[in-house]
Amino acid sequence: MAATIMDGKALAAKVKERVRQQAKSLPRRPGLAVILVGDDPASRVYVNGKKRDCAECGFYSEEYALPAQTSQAELMALVDSLNRRADIDGILCQLPLPKGLDEMAVLRAIHPSKDVDCFHPFNVGELMIGMQSFQPCTPAGVMELLSEYGIDPAGKHAVVVGRSHTVGKPQAVLLLQRNATVTICHSRTPDLAQVCREADILVSAAGRRGLITGDRVKEGAVVIDVAMNRDENGKLCGDVCFEAAAQRAAYITPVPGGVGPMTRAMLMVNTLTAARLHAAEDR
Ligand code: NAP
Repeated sequence: MAATIMDGKALAAKVKERVRQQAKSLPRRPGLAVILVGDDPASRVYVNGKKRDCAECGFYSEEYALPAQTSQAELMALVDSLNRRADIDGILCQLPLPKGLDEMAVLRAIHPSKDVDCFHPFNVGELMIGMQSFQPCTPAGVMELLSEYGIDPAGKHAVVVGRSHTVGKPQAVLLLQRNATVTICHSRTPDLAQVCREADILVSAAGRRGLITGDRVKEGAVVIDVAMNRDENGKLCGDVCFEAAAQRAAYITPVPGGVGPMTRAMLMVNTLTAARLHAAEDR
């Protein structure tokens, strides 16, 4: 079987266009503030991408590029001031923060209605009970891809490799909400190969290049590669051995061009949602 390649780049463009159109009906432009602490080059690339996405969607955006020596108190004061701003709907603090800064304290300080990453414990709790306003961007992007390609998780066995708070766990919750039977794997899972082979939908978010070999993919499975690794030449790649997996899968995401662009698009969706919430509060 030669798999259908799930085009995250094309779908992300479609989602952003939809967001741009929907934002026009709001009383003011949605606003996103992005905080970047330190000079991590990968974080800089991500922040630039988010600014471009905001421009494409007709959003207002602000960037705070702070030195690595920024104190916790300074960072908390910035978040507090952004929480109070009526023109800012979403606040995103680019992770990881430099050593010495308390990430969880910053994430907890962002007002839940402006938590467009969906990392605040309040929003994580709402997600657990299916009452969420926001969905974490990467898992939400995966769900959007499934839906675009007409893949209904209901009744399927979904295997998620990875249990991080930001990707693996919320991914499992979203699949469960859509009535999949979900297995979560991690570094202590004894027979990962066997569990993967049982997956109708296999989502890999381990960050281990080559982890998902072709023989770990069931014939006809949907294979979603969330990971962003670098090969020996510095080229971006996922966890999945793409060529071999594509021979067995029915659908597969490429890296790059699969989940990555969808993560960015879903941040725009969440910022629009936040702006709608704030507009409703103002009425
Ligand atoms: P993380 O916090 O490092 O979590 C990795 C998870 O994978 C952990 O739960 C770990 O298990 C598990 N794992 C590691 N090696 C494994 C193995 N050999 N077998 C089974 N499980 C294994 O990473 P993350 O933040 O969730 O990100 C995961 C990957 O997705 C990374 O490559 C990251 O760059 C990428 N990512 C991509 C996007 C995107 O937009 N495409 C967004 C976010 C992240 P333990 O818990 O037991 O350690």
